[in-house]
Amino acid sequence: MNRRHPERIKTVAILGGGPAASTLATLLARAGLTVAIWHQPKHAPLIVGESLVPAIVPLLQKLGIEEEVRAFSTFKPGATFNLSDDVNFSFFFHQLTGATATYAYNVPRDRFDETLLTNAQRAGARVIEARAAVERVAGTDRVQLTRETLAKANGFLADSPDLLVDATGRARLLPNLLAIPSREGGRKDTALFAHVDRAQLDHTGHVHTTRLDHGWSWRIPLPGRVSLGMVIGAEHLPQFGATKEARYDNLLKQDSVLSAVASDAQRLTPVMEYVNYQLVSARMVGDGWALLGDTAGFIDPVFSSGLFLGMQGAWLLAEAIRDGSPAAFQRYQHEATHHLETWHEIVDYFYSGRLFTCFKVGQKLRNTLLVRLAFPHINKHLGRIFSGAASTAPYSVGLLRFAMKYGLKDEDPGALRIR
Ligand SMILES: Cc1cc2nc3c(=O)[nH]c(=O)nc-3n(C[C@H](O)[C@H](O)[C@H](O)COP(=O)(O)OP(=O)(O)OC[C@H]3O[C@@H](n4cnc5c(N)ncnc54)[C@H](O)[C@@H]3O)c2cc1C
Repeated sequence: MNRRHPERIKTVAILGGGPAASTLATLLARAGLTVAIWHQPKHAPLIVGESLVPAIVPLLQKLGIEEEVRAFSTFKPGATFNLSDDVNFSFFFHQLTGATATYAYNVPRDRFDETLLTNAQRAGARVIEARAAVERVAGTDRVQLTRETLAKANGFLADSPDLLVDATGRARLLPNLLAIPSREGGRKDTALFAHVDRAQLDHTGHVHTTRLDHGWSWRIPLPGRVSLGMVIGAEHLPQFGATKEARYDNLLKQDSVLSAVASDAQRLTPVMEYVNYQLVSARMVGDGWALLGDTAGFIDPVFSSGLFLGMQGAWLLAEAIRDGSPAAFQRYQHEATHHLETWHEIVDYFYSGRLFTCFKVGQKLRNTLLVRLAFPHINKHLGRIFSGAASTAPYSVGLLRFAMKYGLKDEDPGALRIR
């Protein structure tokens, strides 16, 4: 664990310049630490992860950037799920009660990431526009910046920093270098994603999650365009063409659901492809280092929890760094792992069909006394889980588990399973 304790951690090098890195840098710089971010700008034409959950809004407020984000984003008042011809649910965040925002945003990710990074700079963090490289200190669990990487700081960090934080997203510099094992999720999906000029929406601003002939799709309304992604088992893709562009364009025309909601959609961007993204690192802290954001773990795009987990993880890690003790770092690892595992369970209920079968049963029986009494209470807690506000609250998660176990009556969840 962090061998620097009981000395305070004073200098931190953060690798990556995504939302998790920038959030952590802001918090640490505000607390008076010396912080440098090595930022290799993304060259991809699009950055994935554009739909926020309401629980991010209080984080944006604490960072002091909500107004700026609002100015370039689409207001998101809710989420709509289209599971079959007759099973459709829309959730309106204004119904959420408790300590969270009752709205969220859909964000163009280039602007969002830039806003967070500039905010970190404003707080006093130094941004070094260069690719970071690390090497192992032979025979130990320690890592250090290579001499060339440290030199890029031009003396801002006189010596090796007290702590290295890997927030390089899926590049996962440290886990790859240290051969840290990770637990992979059961889904082996491929996500294809692009921006299109238009798509049908049931509700303005809602993120739409739609079950397809195979897999599911997202529609995220953004200013002047719609982000449209498809998440599909790799085995189904070859029938739609040889390239990712051909597969995307053919799926738009040939999938019976997509062709109904996006038949006249014109693609505005190249197609991006993501595979094997479900993984949780078995270790997140070590001797002089810690992992953050997607590098520590990522579950699944459904329910838009990625940015929330990464930014909330930055808060947890900042607390551990300010404390500096091995116990504090262990606490960070425990909590971050627990959050990821809980979301994994929630996501599984979606893929197995149990989640929306339970909602369907609730709707069917809504006139019975028991459901009339219990449904608002259950709904309130489920809403708070999916908004991120209570995604690890024992009572809310316990209620979800109870509903998943006993709330299906005689309905077969397989009918709403993601194929
Ligand atoms: C298909 C899909 C759909 C998703 N949809 C959503 C969604 O709707 N909502 C949501 O909240 N989340 C979503 N996510 C998750 C979200 O994209 C991530 O959780 C989020 O971007 C993680 O932020 P991060 O800061 O950890 O990493 P990243 O955003 O990946 O940032 C890492 C940064 O590190 C930089 N970097 C890499 N290597 C180096 C290096 N050697 N030196 C310096 N810099 C380096 C990269 O260029 C990048 O800028 C989705 C993910 C996938 C795969």
